[in-house]
Amino acid sequence: MIVNLNELRLSGEPLLVKGSFCEDDLHIQSRLAALSEDVATEMKVSLSGDRVSVKGTLRTALLVTCCRCANPFSVQIAKQFDLEYWPDPDVADGEELELEYEDLEVGFYRDDQIDLSAVLSEQVVIEIPMKPVCREGCKGLCDQCGRDLNEGDCDCDRTKIDPRFAVLAQLKNPKVN
Ligand SMILES: [Zn+2]
Ligand SMILES: [Zn+2]
Repeated sequence: MIVNLNELRLSGEPLLVKGSFCEDDLHIQSRLAALSEDVATEMKVSLSGDRVSVKGTLRTALLVTCCRCANPFSVQIAKQFDLEYWPDPDVADGEELELEYEDLEVGFYRDDQIDLSAVLSEQVVIEIPMKPVCREGCKGLCDQCGRDLNEGDCDCDRTKIDPRFAVLAQLKNPKVN
């Protein structure tokens, strides 16, 4: 959803957006997650000179894969955001400005327009958990037979100590002669 900033400027009013966006609208491309619910959002887009403020809330759910047991599960996302976008320094006043920009947490726009789908998509993607765990204390998979240990134990001997750590284990439990 593209907002033409010139039209916004002419209207003199902030733009209010309320709606829901599906995966096709947002093009969320992540191997780690997919939307399991549409993204419901309310946003206010306003201009202050050539700086654009995008404030709002979003709510959705993501389907992710547990990093321990490999089962898919859904995580709820609800967040507020308060973002600022400036004209892209490449098309503004050159290098001096660019240096100044580096430390700031702002986004940039080009061609006098802002793509709200991209804004939302980015806000969703940064919420994707890097190591999602399906439940507290998920036992994961047996590293020998691959059984999901949440569903029950297997007969594998998983107490084997990595030979690299055997020495340490001995130091911790010195044999009493
Ligand atoms: Zn799990
Ligand atoms: Zn096993």
